Amino acid sequence: MEQINLSSDTVTKPTTEMLEFMMSAEVGDDVMRADPTVIALENKLAGMFKREAALFFPTGTMANQSAIKIHTQPGDQFICHEWAHVFNFEGGAAAWLSSISSRLIKGDRGMYSADQLKDALNDPDDVHLPLSKLVAVENTTNKGGGACWDIEELRRVRTFCSQHDLRLHLDGARLFNALVRRGETPDMYGEIFDTISICLSKGLGAPVGSVLIGSNDVINRARRIRKALGGGMRQAGYLAAAGIFALDNNVERLKVDHEHAQQLAIALEACNVVERVETVETNIVIFYIDKQYREEEFINMLEKENIIISNMGNGKLRMVTHLDITSEMIERVEDVLKKL
Ligand SMILES: *Cc1c(COP(=O)(O)O)cnc(C)c1O
Repeated sequence: MEQINLSSDTVTKPTTEMLEFMMSAEVGDDVMRADPTVIALENKLAGMFKREAALFFPTGTMANQSAIKIHTQPGDQFICHEWAHVFNFEGGAAAWLSSISSRLIKGDRGMYSADQLKDALNDPDDVHLPLSKLVAVENTTNKGGGACWDIEELRRVRTFCSQHDLRLHLDGARLFNALVRRGETPDMYGEIFDTISICLSKGLGAPVGSVLIGSNDVINRARRIRKALGGGMRQAGYLAAAGIFALDNNVERLKVDHEHAQQLAIALEACNVVERVETVETNIVIFYIDKQYREEEFINMLEKENIIISNMGNGKLRMVTHLDITSEMIERVEDVLKKL
């Protein structure tokens, strides 16, 4: 029985075509700016977002945390949603590497409104309070179940940040899911944010890699921080090639993942032991099972059918669709859920 791994969209493995493209990459020492494939990937993304520059990183965590480091000074405060990946799932790096504190906002499915920023902002003239310096947005939201921000709200967030001398960072690990879902283009986001991080190794299907996008000044500083964090890679063009291949081949097909997630949501709604399924917009399905059952039991039951899902804690269970999930696999999950 073939394994169906719905635990995350990070589990995809490169296809033969992607591997062939990677192996034929022209490479050089990227720390010396001599890897033409890394430069091509960076230029490609900077161009798509209509920004000056971009920088290839081994992980999204390193890209996000480098951005936070650039935008803040020790003692400053940054503002993000209480579920934000940058706060919850990056090893506490904002406190550790940037020595900043975090102001957390509550809100629907990992999002908040520009109005809520008013309450979160500290008075810059009150010396008791840490200086608010940076606002972070996540799109799509991870813990929020793949929800997409309304671009008009993001424009209001931008206006607020400009009025109050705040930098604005987008954790766009799954931004391409939002673009495909909402029919938006990268330059619409390039216009709003000071920095944007993009993951190539989630739904886009590359084995490794993230990219930070911004102005020349910010990206030059990011290059120095990346080196200090140990992220200066040499013949990284083999990995960057996977990112180029992913951007050329795997963006439009994200809508297939979104359709699969809708199908799973419908099957879960109909399943006897499932209490509630959250709204599904992209490739993440968050659901809760009836109180009388334990999450572990449910997960083990699926595991016996070789179906892997993840436990987000506090009763939250998660299924994520991706490149390696076929329509046949979705049908098998539907059959298994019917029998529970
Ligand atoms: C996956 C992810 C990241 C980056 O994770 P890495 O594993 O470090 O590449 C950042 N933000 C969000 C929302 C993510 O889902």
